[in-house]
Amino acid sequence: MCLSAAQKARIEANRLEALRRRREGARASPPKRQRGMCAECGGPADPSLASFEIFVCAKHRSEKLDLITATEAAQEYLLPKATLAELRSVARKNPRGFATPMKLYLRLDLEEAAKNRFGSLDHLEAERHKRHKAAYGRQERRAATFFRTPSS
Ligand SMILES: [Zn+2]
Repeated sequence: MCLSAAQKARIEANRLEALRRRREGARASPPKRQRGMCAECGGPADPSLASFEIFVCAKHRSEKLDLITATEAAQEYLLPKATLAELRSVARKNPRGFATPMKLYLRLDLEEAAKNRFGSLDHLEAERHKRHKAAYGRQERRAATFFRTPSS
């Protein structure tokens, strides 16, 4: 069988088109990273973040990925329990020997929730100061009554 020049040209064009597509496809797909490998450098990822589906090594882990206890979350971000319950968390064995496991939250999620609640982290900071002052005032008043000498 003998191919005409037009047929040969079409075959060649198809071949080039297939090559181009393959090359583009290879460029478009993200670099292959597996679970347990840092998304930045491919090194071993921090296993404590694996249940959040976050794979990043200790070096590339930012402070936003810190894990924070519910108590710290409530104090630092003034978030109520109901809000914390909506956030993703990871359960850890309680270090103080309590039977109930400790829940840890991502700073990233807490900041996001606090921004939603207070408008911004600056507003959160202002609210924290306000509450701190109010609590201090209550303590002062309590101390004042405690030390008051009974009038005779
Ligand atoms: Zn890394």
